[in-house]
Amino acid sequence: MSQPIYLDYAATTPVEPAVAERMAGYLTADGTFANPASRSHLYGWFAEEAVEQARGQVAELIGADPREIVWTSGATEADNLALKGVARALRHHGRHIVTCTTEHKAVVDPCQWLEDEGFEITWLEPNPDGSLPPERVRSVLREDTLLVSLMHANNETGVIHDIDALGRVCREAGVLFHVDAAQSLGKLPIDVSALPVDLMSLSAHKIYGPKGVGALYVRRSPQVRLEPQIHGGGHERGLRSGTLAPHQVVGMGEALALAGERMDEDYRHVEKLRDQLREKLSVLDDIHVHGESAPRLPGHLNVAFAGVDGEMLLTALNRVAVSSGSACTSATVEPSYVLRAMGVSDALAHSSVRFSVGRLTTLTDIEAAGDHICEVVQRLRAVPA
Ligand SMILES: *Cc1c(COP(=O)(O)O)cnc(C)c1O
Repeated sequence: MSQPIYLDYAATTPVEPAVAERMAGYLTADGTFANPASRSHLYGWFAEEAVEQARGQVAELIGADPREIVWTSGATEADNLALKGVARALRHHGRHIVTCTTEHKAVVDPCQWLEDEGFEITWLEPNPDGSLPPERVRSVLREDTLLVSLMHANNETGVIHDIDALGRVCREAGVLFHVDAAQSLGKLPIDVSALPVDLMSLSAHKIYGPKGVGALYVRRSPQVRLEPQIHGGGHERGLRSGTLAPHQVVGMGEALALAGERMDEDYRHVEKLRDQLREKLSVLDDIHVHGESAPRLPGHLNVAFAGVDGEMLLTALNRVAVSSGSACTSATVEPSYVLRAMGVSDALAHSSVRFSVGRLTTLTDIEAAGDHICEVVQRLRAVPA
């Protein structure tokens, strides 16, 4: 049997071959293998030069100054550094933090941890379409609010938050604004020189770069105070110690430069295919596309197939590689908390599937996937419950 069609680009993407090729030049003895922190020899200087060039590429894509980019191991670490770093640095000024129930676990879990540490978290609820009106944020801000943390685009539904409007509410109140942009980076234009955003989490592997590298954008003016979470050597201006991995950061820089060049082309390609898949599924009755009426990323399609058992659906959809609306925790299968927060019932959340298309998806893939999905859903619905 042939391999399933990969429709899980929101989980991760393959590394672009040109990016992998460049990365390979930073590993072996005939390449630039040195420690970029080695200041005493030519080897180190070359590695440092490569790291700084990549930092410039990341900064360039989001309109930042290279000095505002802190390398991390990914968006999870960047989220942790932003949330815990601000909370720790400003704990004498207040203890209140605002976020939303549809955030990624990389924000939800650190917020819960901070709650245990004595911080007070306000968990905002989105509208049923996943959107979040700025007034809802404004209404919960207080004298002692330190930080608002909201994602740019949701990983499960693709729903896009208006970070400009949300950020302005924070600015007016003198509250810091952190944005998790792991899903939108390289897919939507982002310009922090014009946006009221103080901190932004970035990741390489959702945009055809390597897994295991990301960055945190930290505004310099007005400067954001941040307490480091990893100590040992004072790398990254003291904010994140640890020897940098030149092959990883070079890979991220290269992937982002490429994403910048191809942004319009990528957008049109995935939007067209996503809409074609949506069209193919419209022969089915009783389907619901989560967040369909809100602005969404072009490659996401999160669909509920009413009346179909979630587990049976996932098992039967063996010709496509997709993500389900359920998450396997230690013992049980839990419905997606993101869909639940949007008011979707447990049953409908369990019957939901996230399809996400990408650069390598073809029209042939979409046609075969669409036929397969329709056939499976119709077959499962024909079985008497
Ligand atoms: C993937 C993702 C993360 C985690 O990023 P890593 O680089 O894998 O740690 C965080 N937030 C969102 C919205 C994501 O999609």
